[in-house]
Amino acid sequence: MTTQILNGKMRHFINQLTNLVEQTDEESTLLQRGSELLHDLVAEDDWLPESCSLPHPDYYQQYLLYCDPAERFSVVSFVWGPGQKTPIHDHTVWGLIGMLRGGEAERSFEWRDGKLIGGESHNLKPGEVGKVSPKIGDIHQVWNRFSDQVSISIHVYGADIGKVKRHVFTEAGESKKFISGYTNTELPDFI
Ligand code: FE
Repeated sequence: MTTQILNGKMRHFINQLTNLVEQTDEESTLLQRGSELLHDLVAEDDWLPESCSLPHPDYYQQYLLYCDPAERFSVVSFVWGPGQKTPIHDHTVWGLIGMLRGGEAERSFEWRDGKLIGGESHNLKPGEVGKVSPKIGDIHQVWNRFSDQVSISIHVYGADIGKVKRHVFTEAGESKKFISGYTNTELPDFI
């Protein structure tokens, strides 16, 4: 009984998002409507299977939960061990970050005179959703707000993000290509 309820939340989200990408490829609509759907998904923290919520002592984890067969979007659980942080990086496609458990901090960066200048950092609390894209700001650094607990956010991207060629940066403006891949090699069977 419980399992069916939990499965239903993620399945409902995937169905709604699939309907959305079939109706439009307009980025601002995808970001706005997609963030409303993700907001509903992360409103309650009772559906993510344990296999996709396990931290690693040294590295933040990226578990692929679902990839659209036409690669129009993917859904990933991002699991932060205490104190873990990303390098400064971009995405090259639209993305949504829904906070499920714990908390993240995010700092956006902009190019100025060949250097990357960081803005204020913002906190994301459980239930809140953030957005990125090349049009609205695509370069940022993200970290677990907590040094003594695991945090988890659910990310949605406008591609099979684990295969996308993108970049990490230093504040001096040096860039390096990277492909993130995924932590898991097999999809979870909870949907
Ligand atoms: Fe990011």
